[in-house]
Amino acid sequence: MTYGSVTEKEINIFKSIVGAEKVSTGESVLELHSKDESFHERSRPEVVVFPKSSGEISKILVVANEKRIPVTPWGAGTSLEGNPMPSRGGIVLDLQEMNRILEEREGDFQVVVEPGVVYKELNRRFAKKGLFFPPDPGAPATIGGMVANNASGIQTLKYGATKDYVLRLEVVLPSGEIFRTGSNAVKTSSGYDLCRLFTGSEGTLGVITQITLRLAPLPSHFTAVLVNFNSLEDATHAIYEIMCTGIVPAALEFLDGNVIEAINLFKNTELEEKPTLFMEFHGSNEAGLKEELSLVEEICTSHDSSLYEAGIGREERDRLWQARYDTFESMKNANKGMEIIIIDTAVPLSKYPEMVAFARNEALSKGVKGYVFGHAGSGNLHMGLVKDPNDKKQAETGMIVNDAIVGCAIDLGGTATGEHGVGIGKRKFMAHEHGQSLEVMKRIKRLFDPNGIMNPEKIFL
Ligand SMILES: Cc1cc2nc3c(=O)[nH]c(=O)nc-3n(C[C@H](O)[C@H](O)[C@H](O)COP(=O)(O)OP(=O)(O)OC[C@H]3O[C@@H](n4cnc5c(N)ncnc54)[C@H](O)[C@@H]3O)c2cc1C
Repeated sequence: MTYGSVTEKEINIFKSIVGAEKVSTGESVLELHSKDESFHERSRPEVVVFPKSSGEISKILVVANEKRIPVTPWGAGTSLEGNPMPSRGGIVLDLQEMNRILEEREGDFQVVVEPGVVYKELNRRFAKKGLFFPPDPGAPATIGGMVANNASGIQTLKYGATKDYVLRLEVVLPSGEIFRTGSNAVKTSSGYDLCRLFTGSEGTLGVITQITLRLAPLPSHFTAVLVNFNSLEDATHAIYEIMCTGIVPAALEFLDGNVIEAINLFKNTELEEKPTLFMEFHGSNEAGLKEELSLVEEICTSHDSSLYEAGIGREERDRLWQARYDTFESMKNANKGMEIIIIDTAVPLSKYPEMVAFARNEALSKGVKGYVFGHAGSGNLHMGLVKDPNDKKQAETGMIVNDAIVGCAIDLGGTATGEHGVGIGKRKFMAHEHGQSLEVMKRIKRLFDPNGIMNPEKIFL
């Protein structure tokens, strides 16, 4: 596809739309918007624009569409697959200044926000009202970025992913058209579900400018559990059996001994460097939680757990979860000067033990250092592969291991990405995963964005 470039003329038009101070071609701003949190190669935009309203975005898109200038929406740039990187240059629309909470509809457990609201901020504000937006990627992501990536996190197991919380959207299409879709009713069978279509579209169809989210009540009782196992197999089989009981933990996280070692180093913790489960259970009373815990303990003990610590207090529980959130930083800290490829696959639960064993053996057999972890209760496997950017051969081997693991997940009936999205890194697996329906996706893309200006080179090769 041939694209137009941004000239002085467009820059002046953008300045007249949003104000001169909201248009930047400064080195540091372009540099900041050339890279997300992944290892993918940087690509700089020609201009970064900070719009304040859907009307401004509409006018910008009309200009861009006419000249075939690429447009990439930007939330907080915390993606892990190159999703917001402006691969073909052009315009980055940084939405961080559209950060107003527009309407608090507590009576319906709903809130209307602009896309630049940071979800942690939203949750701080609603904690006082006993409500929260559960998908929790850990990083300081925006709601717009979370919707566009269909993000999820530690508590998705019980509470669902972002897609389960999006009730209404306002979207600006590349043509400049602004439309609203969805309903405040929590159930509807009315027509095509365009909220779901735009959720996970990674900025390739249009710009999301307003979001109505469902919120969940904060749990009244919780309990946290830490379990160590003597082997990876025991840990992964215990995960499957726990999930087969019908108990739905709020979180069930798996971390192998290598991850725990990196966390101990980075966070000064003294956790046993063995395959470990961090779990959390939410309920409405103590008695129910106790009953669930005794069943979980029985399963872990039958799988030779070497430590079972339940009833962990709030402070220690927060410390453990923070350590889990810092897994990526811990791996980077333990491998200074190296890049970390984060694999993100998900498989049906019954295949989780097989998937973990395959991933570990694949890395071991190729001599690549790997860290296995993930939102295990949802069948989500992450693996951090250490890649030496100065050693071409080793980097190639890292990618071979990556491809084999993702390929295995798809063959097991799973997916190339459980939560990080396709971005740049997962495009090569899309045909394998989706077959014929990839062509249908391409047709949908052409329908909304016939000139291909929205976040080019993402999702599709
Ligand atoms: C340490 C770490 C841990 C993480 N853990 C998790 C995790 O557990 N689960 C998880 O799901 N993710 C995780 N992530 C990835 C990332 O935080 C999420 O994908 C997040 O949703 C990205 O949000 P963002 O605001 O940074 O969006 P960005 O990265 O800026 O953008 C994401 C995508 O959305 C598009 N976009 C942004 N705003 C809009 C908009 N308004 N309209 C249309 N398109 C838009 C962009 O073009 C891009 O394609 C992690 C990241 C890090 C660094």
